Amino acid sequence: MSIEQLTESPSGEYDAWRTAQDQFDRAATIIQLEPELRAVLREVQREFTVHFPVKLDDGSVQMFTGYRVQHNVNRGPAKGGIRYSPEVSLSEVKALAMWMTWKCAVVDIPFGGAKGGVVVDRRRLSLAELERLTRRFAAELTALIGPDRDIPAPDMNTDGQIMAWIMDTISMHRGYSVPAVVTGKPVDIGGSQGRIEATGRGVTIATVAALEKIGLQPHQVRVVVQGFGNVGSVSARLLDEAGCTVVAVSEDYGGIYNPIGLPMKKVLEYRRQNGTLRGFPGAQEIGTAEVVTLDCDVLVPAAIENQITSANAERIRARLVVEGANGPTTPEADQILNRRGVLVVPDILANAGGVTVSYFEWVQDLQSFFWSEHEVNQKLRAIMLRAFEDIWNIAQQRGLDLRMAAYVKAVAAVAAATRDRGIYP
Ligand code: NAD
Repeated sequence: MSIEQLTESPSGEYDAWRTAQDQFDRAATIIQLEPELRAVLREVQREFTVHFPVKLDDGSVQMFTGYRVQHNVNRGPAKGGIRYSPEVSLSEVKALAMWMTWKCAVVDIPFGGAKGGVVVDRRRLSLAELERLTRRFAAELTALIGPDRDIPAPDMNTDGQIMAWIMDTISMHRGYSVPAVVTGKPVDIGGSQGRIEATGRGVTIATVAALEKIGLQPHQVRVVVQGFGNVGSVSARLLDEAGCTVVAVSEDYGGIYNPIGLPMKKVLEYRRQNGTLRGFPGAQEIGTAEVVTLDCDVLVPAAIENQITSANAERIRARLVVEGANGPTTPEADQILNRRGVLVVPDILANAGGVTVSYFEWVQDLQSFFWSEHEVNQKLRAIMLRAFEDIWNIAQQRGLDLRMAAYVKAVAAVAAATRDRGIYP
């Protein structure tokens, strides 16, 4: 089934905003959240839509649409990535912003939640067009973003170079350098050591911790990773280094599979040289749809939303699903996986390593005092393990799955901050 078909589903199962609100509602009911706070927290605070022109290389002008949404800032400035994709919509960005609020609360870092996106197929732009689009979008965001209010970061199809252009544009407008306005920057302009790998490293830490809970060692498990971008490729490499056997990896057009394991170093080298996984020697080519239902012990969806749905959840063969992507599992699929005893480490816990090291980057920028990669990785590990233990214990004590346990912790924390501050005026 193509993504277009998924998003057009009349059932609403594939509407990310509906998923986000559904998850929130269930958590609010569990913690018996008062109706006033429930009403506040199930909406986003600000949603900004901009239509802006970009000069293309052939001299023509094309209009683009971009969004920035802030869900809640009661625990700290808004934080969240910017995504470039033809599928970006306001409702998707709202969901991603809400998930960021809960994620920051799960790992207990002092940020609220935001997200941004531009409706664009990056592959259709030249580098110069990409720079002009990014700088214009950044200029349109000037009033909204800043180190003390809202701090973007990379997400799908955005990277350190794009963060550098955003940081430079904001700095030109202010008249002085503002490194802390974005995270995920190159290290030479105030980025943090370890940020590029942080999300995949966090996914790996969460996977190994979850395996331990179900009595498995990394060397006993076969892993499938869907998505081979920042999160997927780093997760695959670090899980391989941790001793797991990675049997399949995939991108938007399909992937490669070898039931006895893929040599990850060679796969990464091949991808770097050829720009694709296609044609990797000694592996079977597989289609996009079959990736998540391959025979494996651990499935790491690290691509886009709505990949595990009521249409395929019965056929998932993994015992453990670790959500590298945001929103890869629909609520309908969650129920099926729960019933079948598949353990799911939810996105707001599993992929929180990225925002955690973004927080470290922001702290380093504000202090102009930079840490070693070892220090960053150690602090990340401590935070991920503490959050994992917290959520595991809440799940055990309250008889919840890990997603609801993570929500219970997060929603309670954000509700407490909102209650303390009161409703203005
Ligand atoms: P990316 O652009 O670096 O990579 C995305 C990958 O997904 C690419 O390999 C692409 O080919 C693949 N993909 C797209 N559609 C696919 C499909 N239908 N099937 C299989 N693969 C497909 O993006 P990223 O930064 O790695 O983000 C991936 C996910 O992780 C997103 O949900 C993002 O929100 C989430 N995430 C990212 C970060 C981060 O730090 N970058 C942090 C937390 C969560």
